[in-house]
Amino acid sequence: MVIFPATIAVAWLGCHAVESSFPPPQMPQVVPTGETFADAGPWSVAGGPTVPDVRLTSLALPPQGDAAAPVGPVGGPDRPDPAPPGSAAAPVDRPVETPAAPSVRTIRLRVTAYCPCLKCCGRWSGKGLTASGAPITSNGGLFVAADTNLLPFKTRVRVPGYANGQWVPVLDRGGAIRGHRMEVFFHSHQVARQWGVQWLTVEVLQE
Ligand SMILES: [Zn+2]
Repeated sequence: MVIFPATIAVAWLGCHAVESSFPPPQMPQVVPTGETFADAGPWSVAGGPTVPDVRLTSLALPPQGDAAAPVGPVGGPDRPDPAPPGSAAAPVDRPVETPAAPSVRTIRLRVTAYCPCLKCCGRWSGKGLTASGAPITSNGGLFVAADTNLLPFKTRVRVPGYANGQWVPVLDRGGAIRGHRMEVFFHSHQVARQWGVQWLTVEVLQE
């Protein structure tokens, strides 16, 4: 498993509401299948997850929209400008996968991981608190950091491969966590590193 240095840099900002001048490590790049952002093209930066092949699998699926057609929301979902916290302003979710309950929507996110250590949280390390004010022991230490313009605090999400598929709350955020980014929390730095960078379809509970 290759760990990108940017993973740590991103995680470093994830522990609390750090408005850092640290440059955004990477813009979201090639958007895998299911998400057809109109502006996905220009950001082909190296260093991120390489999943363009997934597009091939989408061709085998029943035709529910041309993968090349820009059907994304107007303005693009990855703009850093804050949208109103209402879910209606969030990027339009599409019934791509897991059509589960009607109260659940899915969203494609770049998911990294962090822990409460000095490397991950910098000066916030040791305080034991998330940006929402909840302690890092909340929900058994199972929670995520997200862009609260997209997913407000307390929003419950389900991240593949995290927390045994349980619903976990958004309790944290960070200066580098903008747009379609998320960080899952671990108590161990080692485990956080092993997580790496993953583009995942995250379920969001609409309450
Ligand atoms: Zn750490």
